[in-house]
Amino acid sequence: MMKIPISQILRSRRRTIALVITRDARLVVRAPVHTTITEIEALVEQKRNWIAKKLTQVQHKQTIHRMNPFRDGELFRYKGKQYPLMITSGEQSIRLNDHHILFPERYLAHPERAMTYWYAHEALRTLADRVQYYTNTHGFRHTGITVTGARTRWGSCSPADRLCFSWRLILLPESVIDYVVVHELCHTVEKNHSARFWNRVGAILPDYKERKALLKEY
Ligand SMILES: [Zn+2]
Repeated sequence: MMKIPISQILRSRRRTIALVITRDARLVVRAPVHTTITEIEALVEQKRNWIAKKLTQVQHKQTIHRMNPFRDGELFRYKGKQYPLMITSGEQSIRLNDHHILFPERYLAHPERAMTYWYAHEALRTLADRVQYYTNTHGFRHTGITVTGARTRWGSCSPADRLCFSWRLILLPESVIDYVVVHELCHTVEKNHSARFWNRVGAILPDYKERKALLKEY
C-alpha cells in the first residue's frame, strides 16, 4: 500500500498527536515536541482508513464548490462522473458526448457563467424527469419545481408543496439525485422527519440510508 504523505508536522507543547485534514486536502500532524517521526508514521498508518475517507470527502467538497480552469482536459463533474473538457469551435452550445464535455470557444470570455447556466439547465431537465417518474409511480402531488444556486441545502419543499433543488445536484451520482427527489416528494405528504416520513422514503428506496450517507460526503 502507498504511504500517505504528511504535508506538515507542527510541534508544540501538546500531549497527544492530532491528525488534521485541511480544507485543501492535506494531512497536517500536530505533535508533542519530542515525538519521533517513526511514532508519527505509525499513527498515520494506523489511521490510514480514516485519513483516506476524510481526504475523499474534502476532495469531493472542493470540486463541488470550485470549478477547474477552463482548459482542454480539465475535469468537470456530471452525474457523479468526471469528464474532461474539450474546447471546440464547432459547437453552438455546451454539450456532453460519451467522453467529453464539449465547450464552445466563444464562451471562454465568461466560462464560469456559461458552465453554471448549462449545469442549471441540465439539473432542471433531470430533476423534472425524476420528479415526474416518482410522481407517476407513487402518486405524489406537487405545485412546481425550481432550481436555485443554493450552497447550503440540496432541496426543500414549501408548505404549498413547491419543490426547490440546488443545481449542484447535477454533479452528484444519479442514485443520490433520486434520493433527494424522493426525500422532497415525501415532504409533500409528511412535513417533518418523523418515523412515518422515513418509512415512506424507505418504501420507495429501500437502500436510502446508503444514498443518504453518500450525499453527506458531498
Ligand atoms: Zn427533509
